[in-house]
Amino acid sequence: MTWPLDCIRSNEPLAKHTSFRIGGPAEWFAEPATMDELIDLMREARRAGVPVCVVGGGTNLLVADRGLRGLMIHLGRAFRTVELLNDQPEAGEARVRCGAAVTTQHLVMLACRHGWGDVELLAGLPGQIGGAVSMNAQNIGRFVDQVTLVTVAGTVRHLTPGELRFAYRYTALEPGVVVNADLRFPTVPPEASTERIQGALRYRNTTQDVCLPSAGCAFKNPAGMPAGRLIDQAGLKGARIGDAQVSQRHANFIVNLGYATCEDVLSLMEHIQRGVAQRTGVWLEPEVRVLGERWDNRQIGGR
Ligand SMILES: Cc1cc2nc3c(=O)[nH]c(=O)nc-3n(C[C@H](O)[C@H](O)[C@H](O)COP(=O)(O)OP(=O)(O)OC[C@H]3O[C@@H](n4cnc5c(N)ncnc54)[C@H](O)[C@@H]3O)c2cc1C
Repeated sequence: MTWPLDCIRSNEPLAKHTSFRIGGPAEWFAEPATMDELIDLMREARRAGVPVCVVGGGTNLLVADRGLRGLMIHLGRAFRTVELLNDQPEAGEARVRCGAAVTTQHLVMLACRHGWGDVELLAGLPGQIGGAVSMNAQNIGRFVDQVTLVTVAGTVRHLTPGELRFAYRYTALEPGVVVNADLRFPTVPPEASTERIQGALRYRNTTQDVCLPSAGCAFKNPAGMPAGRLIDQAGLKGARIGDAQVSQRHANFIVNLGYATCEDVLSLMEHIQRGVAQRTGVWLEPEVRVLGERWDNRQIGGR
């Protein structure tokens, strides 16, 4: 297929766009630099019947070894701005419009500087704001006033928290690309914000495996019990298939020791699910999102 747009390339290796460092190529890969380019892309993909996926920071994604048919979108520079929406922070709150491609840590850094409170929840969270909203990572939904999305038909929609129904690692997001989120924070003295953020970072660095490639927690926590504890109690810390290993530090992290494949990780995940179920009767549900020819749970559109 020939695309009437410049921002597209073919056979882009997705391993370099994921924190797991795993995954084959995307058939098409686009970095729309502007909103108009994104809308044109979505309309063209829809017209040609090409399925579309989105990658943000790629920190919660496992991509199939054979790669992905269709178009992978990665937002470009127009989506990396943060704008203050109210110029009266003395009113006790700050409202900001945050582009979907802004890294969550850039937002945390700004919050630290300007005294936007409660942001320690997001301190150390890898990835981008669009991905965090899509995953409701660290309950980011509690800060959200509105999300703007470009649908698969190329139309722009503004979604309210009522429509998004944020829950634990869940957002009722209709198929499309999040382009920005309006967030609301209480204002606090910048020193207080900095101190809490530093505390949260220290805790994260001592409890999580941040040195080896991973996608963070492999499984969601079942009600009332951290998945990591169930995995540990099932004796699975350190279990290994190929180069995929259950982290010695955090049992809910699967790490890539160097050459892990998607198949290695999926086999290890199944091994963990069976081991935990045998011991406790609980079947762990994946938190990491799996994408690719066989596992296209989040592809949007269709041909
Ligand atoms: C070391 C480590 C620690 C982590 N710790 C935590 C933690 O404490 N808490 C937590 O909740 N998560 C954690 N994670 C998981 C991950 O960082 C979060 O889920 C993060 O918010 C995902 O953002 P991302 O931009 O990387 O999304 P991606 O991985 O790129 O994508 C995740 C999902 O969101 C979709 N998506 C991405 N961008 C958009 C967009 N613009 N529009 C529509 N859909 C989009 C993707 O299609 C995919 O379905 C951790 C991961 C790592 C590697």
